[in-house]
Amino acid sequence: MLETKIYPDFIVVDGKEGGTGAAPLEFIDHIGKPMRQGLYFVHNALVGIGVRQHIKLGVAGKIITAFDIIRAMALGADWCNAARGFMFAVGCIQSQSCHTDRCPTGVATQDPRRQRALVVPDKMQRVANFHRATLHELAEMTAAAGLDHPKEFKPIHISRRISPSEVLTFAELYPSLAEGELIAGSGTPRWKQPWDMARADSFRAIA
Ligand code: SF4
Repeated sequence: MLETKIYPDFIVVDGKEGGTGAAPLEFIDHIGKPMRQGLYFVHNALVGIGVRQHIKLGVAGKIITAFDIIRAMALGADWCNAARGFMFAVGCIQSQSCHTDRCPTGVATQDPRRQRALVVPDKMQRVANFHRATLHELAEMTAAAGLDHPKEFKPIHISRRISPSEVLTFAELYPSLAEGELIAGSGTPRWKQPWDMARADSFRAIA
């Protein structure tokens, strides 16, 4: 991006906790990183190279509730993608047999007999109710924080207990890079090492 000055309109960070039950088991267990870690990395990498304003950032990975949305936006997401909550609303019971064509609730199957389990007029109402209630809760939580829009949530708004006696804000847990800090030469080891390993002409890191 820096070499070509060509920026994508958006990037979506999809955490390892999301995805399909049809993925290879070894991939499910070992490939990828948690959504918040990935979002934090991508958002700050874009800030660090001074291009964040050119690119929207979406995020997915176990986002179900209004608080899940707020927490992701506080870490830099411009919007959230969600599937899981809607899958539950439509009847998924997480039996993880999507790849067998034997979905017991008719959600993920090509079998017409099993598809009958998904009664569309009933389930569409449940999906609509779920979405409406989630957005209502999002508006309430935003107002409770004294904000006008969920995009105003910042790392300082979210706290996390990390031990019985210690609570840290996301601002402390996920320290932010300054605008252009990577270009200027960040001395922070967690950023300096990946930055030094990255190269523009290949996805292979410089060892
Ligand atoms: S209920 Fe259906 S869609 Fe949900 S995990 Fe099981 S097979 Fe997949």
